[in-house]
This record gives sequence, C-alpha cells and structure tokens, in this order.
Amino acid sequence: MFGTGLLTGLGVTLKHFVDTFVDDRRETPSRYTDSKKLDDFGRRMIHQPVEQEGLLTIQYPEERRLLPERFRYIPMLIFDTEKNEDRCTACGICAKVCPPQCIWIVRDMDAAGKPVPRPAEFFIDAAVCMSCSFCTEFCPFDAIKMNHDFELAVYDRYPQLVYDKAELTVPEEYYAALWPTQYSQEAEVRRLAAEAEKAKAEAKAKAEVEKAAKAAAAAASGGGEEKPKRTAAELKALAQQRAAAKKAGGEVEAEAESEAPAAAAPAVDDAEAAKKARIEEMKRKAQEAAKKRKEGGE
Ligand code: SF4
Ligand code: SF4
Repeated sequence: MFGTGLLTGLGVTLKHFVDTFVDDRRETPSRYTDSKKLDDFGRRMIHQPVEQEGLLTIQYPEERRLLPERFRYIPMLIFDTEKNEDRCTACGICAKVCPPQCIWIVRDMDAAGKPVPRPAEFFIDAAVCMSCSFCTEFCPFDAIKMNHDFELAVYDRYPQLVYDKAELTVPEEYYAALWPTQYSQEAEVRRLAAEAEKAKAEAKAKAEVEKAAKAAAAAASGGGEEKPKRTAAELKALAQQRAAAKKAGGEVEAEAESEAPAAAAPAVDDAEAAKKARIEEMKRKAQEAAKKRKEGGE
C-alpha cells in the first residue's frame, strides 16, 4: 500500500522517542544519580550505561559522558610523586616506534656535560599524533600513557598543538584516576618485581656472609690452603737430615728439596750420629717384627 514504508519509519522514530523518555527516567530517581560533579558551575559527568537505548541527550559542554577507561587521545608523561621525579629516562624508544614520528626528546645533562637519564625537553605534535598508543605500549618504564582529554581546540596549530614537557606532564595520581584498572595491574607488577629484586639481594648478601664466615673459620683452625712457613733452624735441621739420609743411601724427603737453603753444609759428626740412630731404629723395628712373628707361630 502506498505510504506503508513512511508509516513504518515514523513508527521507529516514535519508538525511539518513547524509549528515550522511558530510559531517561527508568532509573530512580534519574540518570544524574551516579553522575559526577565536574566543578562549581554545575557541570556534570554523565554515566550512560552501554545497555541503555534511546537518544539520551547530554547538555554538552555542561554535561559530558563518562569516558571508558581505555579511551585514548594524546599521550601524557607521568611524574612519580613518591620519588619526586619524572618516570621518563629519555631512552627514546617511544620516539623510535611512533609511526608518524611526532615525538622529539632532548636528553638532560649534568654540570660536567655528561648525559643523565631524564628528559630536558619532550615534545609531541598533537596535530600529527594519531592516538595509536604505540608509544605507551613500548615504553619500558610506564612513563607515557594516553590521556582522556580531547578538548584541545585552538586557533593556531603552531605552537599551540606542539605540547612541551610541562604541558604533557601529569602527576601519577591523575593517571591512577583515569586508568584505575590498568594502574593497579602495573602497580602489582612493579611490587612483585621489587620483591623479587629484594629477595635476590638478600640471598646474595647471605651467601657473602656465609663465605666470609667459612674463610674466618678455616683461618682460625689453621687448616687453610697456605703452607706454614718454616723457621731458619727448622730448615737447617731439615737440610742436615737430608744430607745424612743421602749419605746413608736412604730416600731424600721431597719436601725438603724446594725449601732447603743451598748454602747449608752438613756437619760430618751430625751425619754420623744420624746414620747410627737410623741403623738403631731399623734394628729395633726388625727385632719387634721377629718377636711378633715368633709369638704368632707359637
Ligand atoms: S616515555 Fe618511555 S619510551 Fe619514551 S623516552 Fe621516556 S622512558 Fe623512553
Ligand atoms: S600515540 Fe601513536 S602517534 Fe601519538 S605519539 Fe604515541 S606513537 Fe606517536
């Protein structure tokens, strides 16, 4: 029938109108219940549930929609308020991976002209940035994150849309409020890494203490690897003994070879006495052995 499509379209429009009216007031008392007050001028952040149907009218800019956590626009630099320093170390990885190359970094230097791990300057051209978030994903120090602030309209592109370090830097708490889930996950990862580092350092310190205690105990018991030094009198006696044994055809003690002074000359009398003592000792041992054999045979 002529006009059926037109009536159907009007019906859909009427349904949306009614849905809007109903949705807007279905939640008691109203959608403003869980909205957040933005400032003293009555501006509010409106939470619109994803399952809500109809055409919800938000009185922008007085009212704004609550943005989802993973919304991203232009990057921001995180300032660690606990350590009172920038998290960025000016490593330059973000600048390297940025597809449209809109990041410039100048590394800071100390008084002696030596580079230090912090940025002196950090620029992002917001007119070129395409909000891809590559920079945040590759940063090894969680130093750059995506901001939710999308109201960046200005009259001139340069220099207003080229943000410097001061404009990009935000305190850690700001990031925690915008990205609560991600922030808590990263904080947990950092906490576990710090604990592992601490345990490693403690284990190393304990091993060093044990090693030092072992070395001290070995030194106290005299059982160290170092050979004790002999006195001059001991060396002289050793040389005489060696000479006497050599003369008697006995074996020379190997230990004495390296330590005996070359100048030590054996006295003839001492050598004779040593020889007699040795023969006497041998006789005594032979007699003892014979006696034992005899006792065993009986
Ligand atoms: S923001 Fe991250 S990746 Fe970029 S220079 Fe700083 S520390 Fe390196
Ligand atoms: S979001 Fe993408 S385009 Fe923007 S600065 Fe980061 S890497 Fe570059």
